[in-house]
Amino acid sequence: MEKVIVFDFDGTLTQKGANVWKTLWEMAGYPTGEGSTYRNLFRDYINGEYSYQKWCDLTCEYFRKGNLNSIKVSTTGAILPRIKGIKNTLEVLKSKGYDLFIVSGSIKQIIKSYLKENINYFTGIYANNFNYDNNGIIESITATPFDFDGKKVFIEHLINSGIKKENIIFIGNSYNDEKVSSAGVKTICINPETKNFNDKSIWHKAIISESLSKILPEIINENENIK
Ligand SMILES: [Mg+2]
Repeated sequence: MEKVIVFDFDGTLTQKGANVWKTLWEMAGYPTGEGSTYRNLFRDYINGEYSYQKWCDLTCEYFRKGNLNSIKVSTTGAILPRIKGIKNTLEVLKSKGYDLFIVSGSIKQIIKSYLKENINYFTGIYANNFNYDNNGIIESITATPFDFDGKKVFIEHLINSGIKKENIIFIGNSYNDEKVSSAGVKTICINPETKNFNDKSIWHKAIISESLSKILPEIINENENIK
């Protein structure tokens, strides 16, 4: 690998506003408004009351009680609001020699059912994994080590494996992506869900667009032909 683009998933490769975890809580029959368990558990995680794995474990208990099964999970992925231009954008980036990764706090099974055949453009997908029992009901969640601060750790692994910082670009949209810039790679914020999108120390460029293809001019430029 020489050149790498790392994508966040939720709100980056999907349309703004679509939140996978929220949709899953709803699929499991729970409210998601002010004061809901969904919001309280996440707030407590953010406030440092427990680990990311513990947050996954607590979430899983509720999902299991709500009989969340593999079919509902796949359906949630398949019907997520789509961002335009995915296939074309991934195609162009591959043709320019980029290896593509997803590093996400979403769920592998959701990402697969959303991307369908476009999954083949990616060299690797890192996200939380749902494990199901024999009846297809969720039994446990294996937490990704690469969300929040972990996204930066993933980028550092790439750098340590010999890929130059200047050949790594990260595309994200929200607060859980914001440690990445401190790894010294270029960061692009698409359809921001973070108030920091104009802070150049965190995001080098912000783009608001219905189409993912708007990232292409930021990546492919006149320097592209210089080896
Ligand atoms: Mg996101």
